[in-house]
Amino acid sequence: MNHIEGERKVVTSPYRRCRLESQIMLARLLFQPLFFLLAAATVTLAQDVGTLNPHPLPPLAKPDDPAIPARQLFGRKTEPVPLSSRSIGKYSRGCLAGGMALPVNGPTWQVMRLSRNRNWGHPNMIKVLERLAAKVPKIGWPGLLVGDMSQPRGGPMLTGHVSHQIGLDADVWFTPMLDHELSRQEREEKMATNVVAEDWNEVNPAVWSPVHIALLKTVAEDPDVERVLVNYAIKKALCREVTTDRGWLTKIRIVYGHNYHFHIRIKCPSDNHDCTPDPPTPGHDTCAEEIAYWTHNDRYKPKPPTPGPPGHQLTLSDLPPQCRPIVSAP
Ligand SMILES: [Zn+2]
Repeated sequence: MNHIEGERKVVTSPYRRCRLESQIMLARLLFQPLFFLLAAATVTLAQDVGTLNPHPLPPLAKPDDPAIPARQLFGRKTEPVPLSSRSIGKYSRGCLAGGMALPVNGPTWQVMRLSRNRNWGHPNMIKVLERLAAKVPKIGWPGLLVGDMSQPRGGPMLTGHVSHQIGLDADVWFTPMLDHELSRQEREEKMATNVVAEDWNEVNPAVWSPVHIALLKTVAEDPDVERVLVNYAIKKALCREVTTDRGWLTKIRIVYGHNYHFHIRIKCPSDNHDCTPDPPTPGHDTCAEEIAYWTHNDRYKPKPPTPGPPGHQLTLSDLPPQCRPIVSAP
């Protein structure tokens, strides 16, 4: 598949990085356990539409310049490196060798936004998605619409995500799979379902249902799933509405956005010694402390854009040295 830079009709602006940095400082002081989630998670608040006419990116004039943002290098790679599969580094600072593509159609899944060429992952990620897709029809969810996973060689992306860099993250839409094979145009232009109300404080009762709870439970209970990242209003609803068997709530963690999709993060593969795991989940439901943290000063509400230059963009020297040959290989 040719690489293209997805056309961005709904622009998610650089303000988020600046805001994120101040939030991170605050979180460090106030609430250490949440720090890495703020730092590592996707912060996409609006949906991007894809394009049916992708344009390959022009080659870089000085690809060896050490100041070139790593996302400019990884974003130009349209194929994986044919090495044994390895997730290297952290979820938000790393790369992927031997990436595998999730087939765009399965019995109970379909991949969206094909123009982005982000349906790549470690083979374990592919296995988990296929396993979950096979399970969800039994709980009344017809199948999965899969959004962004990773680029063919992982690494930072030109648009959208902070994590998704090592082939162990996948976004799944809060829209059930439709009863037909979607056209290319539908996959690029269809919008996902927002399950959160306009005030960001609660789920939208016209959309939210027990099936959403069963879906998130099915995902969180998969033994390879490390975390499921969702919006504040969603975790709040789960904390209120799940009354028995609450152990899985420990894996459901709050991040900005994630009102149109949820984010599945799986564990480091046991034989990938270069993969850096997230801190372990605390084991309890985390409802009280997470809700309190995000409720404080209306932290859950997205802030308006503030002008300013974008923050530091990762270069190759910010990534594990093993990523250099991966992105340099033809
Ligand atoms: Zn994500």
